Amino acid sequence: MSDPKTYQNLIGGEWVPARSGKTFENRNPADTRDVLGTFPHSGADDVADAVAAAQAAYNKWRLTPAPKRGEIIFRASQILQQRKEEYARDMTREMGKVLAETRGDVQEAIDMGFFMAGEGRRLYGVTTPSELPNKFQMSVRQPLGVCGLITPWNFPMAIPSWKIFPALICGNTVVIKPAEDTPLSTYNFVQALIDAGLPPGVVNIVSGYGPEAGEPLVKHPDVKVVSFTGSTQVGKHVSQLCAEQLKHLSLEMGGKNPMIVMDDADLDLVIAGAVWGAFGTTGQRCTATSRLIAHRSIVDELVSRVQAEAKNIRVGNGLDENNQMGPSINEQQLGTVQKYVGIGKEEGAELVLGGARLEDGDYGHGYFHQPTIFTNVKRDMRIAQEEIFGPVVSVIPVDSLEEAIDVANDVPYGLSSSIYTRNVNNAFVAMRDLYTGIVYVNAPTIGAEIHLPFGGTKGTGNGKREGGTQVLDTYSEWKSLYIDYSGGLQRAQIDNAE
Ligand code: NAD
Repeated sequence: MSDPKTYQNLIGGEWVPARSGKTFENRNPADTRDVLGTFPHSGADDVADAVAAAQAAYNKWRLTPAPKRGEIIFRASQILQQRKEEYARDMTREMGKVLAETRGDVQEAIDMGFFMAGEGRRLYGVTTPSELPNKFQMSVRQPLGVCGLITPWNFPMAIPSWKIFPALICGNTVVIKPAEDTPLSTYNFVQALIDAGLPPGVVNIVSGYGPEAGEPLVKHPDVKVVSFTGSTQVGKHVSQLCAEQLKHLSLEMGGKNPMIVMDDADLDLVIAGAVWGAFGTTGQRCTATSRLIAHRSIVDELVSRVQAEAKNIRVGNGLDENNQMGPSINEQQLGTVQKYVGIGKEEGAELVLGGARLEDGDYGHGYFHQPTIFTNVKRDMRIAQEEIFGPVVSVIPVDSLEEAIDVANDVPYGLSSSIYTRNVNNAFVAMRDLYTGIVYVNAPTIGAEIHLPFGGTKGTGNGKREGGTQVLDTYSEWKSLYIDYSGGLQRAQIDNAE
């Protein structure tokens, strides 16, 4: 443990406290005696200051050539590489996931930076021939202005990087409101950008809670783009607020991701994938494997082998390299896990592993829960339908591929899915018919790479995608340009008609 530090908002390049002077603490969920620091408990007036700073910086940044913007992003990624271990340790302390995973989280930000830096020399538009002679035409991307970014706690650096880097490369400026449980990783990330030479005001941070700081950011009339990642409940509310002002909005929300296991699957592969997919990040990934939809002929063997493997998961403080699974993020999230364990029992599902909070010894200082498996789960039970966001997996037996896909699709979410099979025909049917934004074959539902589109269908999103070059569509608008060099008036659709 080190002494807690005092962090401030970043507004126009200055570190300033909340106008109210209020702060909140950032504590380690593995050991709540460990306070990382205090952060400004911001309100609408702090948000207004930050938006004004971003607005003031916009014109200069917009006119900075995109390759130059890319160079700053590239340097920031190099700095993140140098500080990877330090930032990963900070992240484990504030978020709880094990070091191997927080290193991966920082790496994702690094990857995103190098990818987006390259976009500085692409940001491709489209040229296309005109229907008229001596006329040239093309479409180019335009930035929109100030982007308001709201992020969750489970990927405290990766998710801010998915939003900030593409917003910047397109020429926008940014105000970010990081999750109240994990603000430090956003500070660390932005520090790398500052050290890389980012001009003041281009990125601003306002820390605080959703209703007090997040909502004024969404509502501010000078915020032209809102990008939100978090729960479906809050996302819907944000969507309604944005609709009033017709704001551009990207939503990435919850998941209830299925892994289908066919009777011809390689079970060794399945066990490794299921344990990682369900219990990695303590099940706190939007893409976590929360349903194992297994062919009835292999379900007993599958359950006993996953159970045997999951029983041995070493749960504890993520800073200890021997541990494989950390705590839930906070008391409330742990309470949600416990609530769903109770619901599963009441619904008649069979609890075959775990089901309890870990409280003995050092566990008592954190929010730890046992890896938990329910079997004989029915497709319409609440534990099979609702996002739990914890180390709980539900096994649902089925009799055919058709039924498996039907069950997989029968939830309000559509982020990720997977199928384990050695039958290529089954794999292709699943790739076609699983209605999710991401489908894996012979791999669990987690493990996205930054250069493919990331996002989901139904209650997971609003049709936008992060990652890939597709993310650029959130942070830019198309402008079509027509240049007539014929020297006369040429009327489209009229002068070239037969
Ligand atoms: P959350 O919805 O509680 O909070 C997300 C963010 O929204 C936080 O910064 C919070 O302060 C802010 N917020 C809360 N109320 C607000 C309001 N009224 N106005 C504006 N902002 C507000 O979610 P969480 O608990 O931080 O994160 C977990 C959720 O995020 C899960 O549902 C998970 O599936 C989802 N998630 C989705 C993805 C994805 O890409 N699809 C990725 C990670 C997490």
